[in-house]
Amino acid sequence: MRVHIAMGKDGGQQGCTGHGRCAVMAGEVYSLDDNGYNIHRGQTLEVPRGLEESARLGVRVCPEGAITVVRSSHVDRPGAEASTGHSRRG
Ligand code: SF4
Repeated sequence: MRVHIAMGKDGGQQGCTGHGRCAVMAGEVYSLDDNGYNIHRGQTLEVPRGLEESARLGVRVCPEGAITVVRSSHVDRPGAEASTGHSRRG
């Protein structure tokens, strides 16, 4: 499983604005930099096995919708995972 953390406004799209909820709710997956932004913003993060649910929690709690689950051919928007109940690695 991979997740992408979008950049903030400078990236020209909805992205991380530094609310910090991801790190509070799912700190085993997400961390913040010294300015309160997700340290992986602008990057795709490989989620360690066993932490997929925490990664999905981060997707749900981010108020900006900045964290998205990445699949091989597309990016799921927040909430999309709930309809399938699971995802496959790839
Ligand atoms: S919750 Fe969203 S906006 Fe806040 S730090 Fe995490 S990725 Fe950025």
